[in-house]
Amino acid sequence: MSSSKYRTHSIAEIGLGLVGQSVTVAGWVDRRRDLGGMTFLDLRDHSGLLQVMVDDPKLVGDIRAEYVVQITGTVAERPDSQKSDNMVTGDVELDATKVTVLATSKQLPFQVSSIVENKGENNLPGEDVRLKYRFLDLRRPAMQKRLSLRAKMMWAARESLHKMDFEEVETPDLIKSTPEGARDFVVPSRLHPGSWYALPQSPQLLKQLLMVSGVERYYQFARCFRDEDFRADRQPEFTQLDLEMSYVGQEDVMKVGEQIIHDVWKACGYEVKTPIARISWKDAMDKYGSDKPDLRFGNQLVEMTDYFKNTPFRLFQQDYVGAVLYSGGAALHRRQFDEWQDWAKQRGAKGLAYAVFKDGEISGPVAKHLSDAEREGLAAKVGAHDGDAVFFSAGDRESSQLLLGMVRREIARRQGLLDPKKFAFVWVVDFPLFKRTDDPNDDHVQVGHSAWSPMHHPFTMPREDWIDTFDKDPEHAMSNAYDIVCNGLEMGGGSERIHRTDIQNRVLNVLGIGQQEAQEKFGFLLDAFQYGAPPHAGMAFGWDRASAIMAGTDSIRDVIAFPKTHAGTDLLTGAPAPISAAQRAETGVDEKPEDEQAQDSAEK
Ligand code: ASP
Repeated sequence: MSSSKYRTHSIAEIGLGLVGQSVTVAGWVDRRRDLGGMTFLDLRDHSGLLQVMVDDPKLVGDIRAEYVVQITGTVAERPDSQKSDNMVTGDVELDATKVTVLATSKQLPFQVSSIVENKGENNLPGEDVRLKYRFLDLRRPAMQKRLSLRAKMMWAARESLHKMDFEEVETPDLIKSTPEGARDFVVPSRLHPGSWYALPQSPQLLKQLLMVSGVERYYQFARCFRDEDFRADRQPEFTQLDLEMSYVGQEDVMKVGEQIIHDVWKACGYEVKTPIARISWKDAMDKYGSDKPDLRFGNQLVEMTDYFKNTPFRLFQQDYVGAVLYSGGAALHRRQFDEWQDWAKQRGAKGLAYAVFKDGEISGPVAKHLSDAEREGLAAKVGAHDGDAVFFSAGDRESSQLLLGMVRREIARRQGLLDPKKFAFVWVVDFPLFKRTDDPNDDHVQVGHSAWSPMHHPFTMPREDWIDTFDKDPEHAMSNAYDIVCNGLEMGGGSERIHRTDIQNRVLNVLGIGQQEAQEKFGFLLDAFQYGAPPHAGMAFGWDRASAIMAGTDSIRDVIAFPKTHAGTDLLTGAPAPISAAQRAETGVDEKPEDEQAQDSAEK
């Protein structure tokens, strides 16, 4: 029961069971219609909509959309012909006897009425307007549903973790830098002019410290802050469901992760089958051209490197040649293939070679460069039938595969195969421990100073068979790390951690992080490891991403109450904003550290 100072019921509670009774409800005027001396108001609260009938014009006055009103009236059954499935309260209406305006509303910058919204979110103004008036945007029932869904997911996750004996521990936001591969946001210290806090890129080091502290099963809905460049659908601050466990390995953490996914999806009405499928990082790249493959559909990449081993076509004389099938693609016009070229160029490729299979012939720009034998076997090799097309990419293995992976997903999108109500989970496992620092496909900030960067973060444990040799062959060394992927999006990931100082030092050595630098940056963790650190492992879910996947929206901004724009600005509050000279002086942002040495080493 939602009775309170202002109402006897919330709207969704008004139904046939209350016919003939007097009730008081409160909410926004969703819409007003005046019909032959009568006024109909649709009243909206968080729970739903109710039709209110007012037959005395004096009662309604000049009430307009989005006024907040309190209405007392008698519940009446609607005639059968007027019952509506569109409202939770579609069988009844309220015959108003008293209408009180609790708050008026200015003319709206855009309509938030659920009736308008039913026509689709396409009718909304641009996102800038929605973000500036976020409080109105959130009032829309679709956004209310998304917030509720996210809350339900958080609740289900907490319940799941609670059942598995996890304890929520909060870690601080004002800390020392965490090397997760992004730039830090920093906060000046007024009491220590010239010194700065960093906001955590994740609680990684702190949760590892908690393991050394004896918390065996930690979790936290944690705020993380990463100062990254513009990239689609990222936020400078975001939420992780972060967890860490002692005396466990990869399998144990994955089991916990699966249980959480199972329970969260179940709470939202979906059955996720466990164990969740697994794929190695290499297979994911080879077959799907992505380390976060979308498995809602098939259409694996076909490696053609051997096939074109002796090709006369110069463009295909490369380390790697791959292909992806476009079933039905032969129907595309020349102009559409040209558009695909532009599409690929926007993604950093030089172009997108293709061949078309039509009427028993192979056409397209590639065809005439191939040998007869290559042309003959092509359809069978790529699995094409008459009416299909195929795209190729040739060059260095990883970049070419990544391009084909994007093509594969774009084809699926155009074929309507990206069903948002279908959830294809997969664990990606068997990651390399390191990646090349100069990897053109990576936008992370360099953690160390060598040719090698951590694939996950510097605290990831090498796989058992690499413990002795990882530093001799960083290119091939493997780790005990895992990512959870859903519908082509990375939803989370984690690893077994290094709990031995000797291994940690060797990893730092490969990364080109010297003893002194390590000591300055995270000496507190290395020191702690010298006092008996239990083996531990963990993971984190990107909670904004998980919520967006569940809500079936492409944008994490849709599941964050007050998100920032692509450019990191908050259009509602106007952050970031300049500060006054007095504030600058007080916070000490312009101060240099007193200790010159500290300054020098900070610059190293
Ligand atoms: N700290 C990692 C991240 O933020 C997750 C983990 O390894 O637990 O991506």
